[in-house]
Amino acid sequence: MEKLGIAIVGYGGMGTYHASTLIPEEYFDLKGIWDIAKKQRALAEENDLHVFESFEAVLEDKSVEAILIATPNDSHKAIAIQALEAGKHVICEKPVMLSTEELDEVLAVAEKADRIFMVHQNRRWDPDFLVIKELMHNHQIGEIFQIESRVHGANGIPGDWRHVKAQGGGMILDWGVHLLDQIHTLVDSPIKTMRADLSFVLGNEVDDGFTVTLIHENGLKSVVEVGTTNYVKLPRWYVKGTEGTAIIEDWDLSGTMIVATGDSTATPQPIQAGVGLTKTMAPPSEEATEELALPTPHMMNESFYFNFYRTVREGAEPIVKNEEVRYVMQLMERIFEEADVIQ
Ligand code: NAD
Repeated sequence: MEKLGIAIVGYGGMGTYHASTLIPEEYFDLKGIWDIAKKQRALAEENDLHVFESFEAVLEDKSVEAILIATPNDSHKAIAIQALEAGKHVICEKPVMLSTEELDEVLAVAEKADRIFMVHQNRRWDPDFLVIKELMHNHQIGEIFQIESRVHGANGIPGDWRHVKAQGGGMILDWGVHLLDQIHTLVDSPIKTMRADLSFVLGNEVDDGFTVTLIHENGLKSVVEVGTTNYVKLPRWYVKGTEGTAIIEDWDLSGTMIVATGDSTATPQPIQAGVGLTKTMAPPSEEATEELALPTPHMMNESFYFNFYRTVREGAEPIVKNEEVRYVMQLMERIFEEADVIQ
């Protein structure tokens, strides 16, 4: 297996993560890193990594066949174009760019240079997402007609550049891009209607959260929500099917699934609810439902990194396709244009 020489540009939070993941991989040879911050370069040296003298030095190094971009969102485009024009393949962090126009420019350069450009939409490999994917296929809760996907935190917007609009800050571009990408790969049906609201309650110039509701042409409804002001979280996934409901509480895959037994003789008994009585909202009788364990997810056959390697070396099909990335970029632009604002 001929190793692929790769360099990381941007050795911050995600760059250090990529380095620690790439080093043990037998099919990559991490040639070093470049970061504009002296402190991060010093950290890389402490971690026994080669530190290039400049970005130009990375580009000039013939042993570097690919570049992994892990810099703030507004810098992806320029770095990608320079890398592609220098003949390097590129892995780019999400969100790929700040607009479809920027993305198209980069894709045109990649095509002209005949180089691979692939976006790190790593959350397609998340086990919780793969459980939902499994439920879509195994019909354990019947036909799925509603998917609610949320990530909630209470720490506000983290870091520095994530607060700055010009740098591609805000939660649509940070977490939204992951969750919308997951929905796009789960639901094989175009979007019929879209409703969105963006939260600015923390007073930043960028959104600190949002709710997006999509109705797909096949009738499925998906709700995607990100919050940074949620001191009590809602479940990571809440999914309704014609025969049951599934909840995944968190990334640890805690959760449950209640499915209908099909026993039509079992009717619910009315219950006292507040100051009234209800049969509609009474729990189903014990015979009418059963609790099942969530299915075991089918893990992906290959990692993102290995798929990139094979795409470069063997012409394999990329798992993260640029047309999918472009679709989500367009959707995010539409959300920015049409969303209501909550302040
Ligand atoms: P960060 O601020 O922790 O790190 C960014 C680093 O890039 C810093 O060290 C900074 O000095 C350096 N940098 C800035 N401009 C540069 C340039 N022109 N050339 C070289 N270095 C430069 O940010 P982060 O959290 O690591 O995010 C970086 C990217 O990774 C973003 O695009 C972000 O959205 C993405 N990210 C992806 C995931 C994921 O799960 N896929 C998770 C976190 C971040």
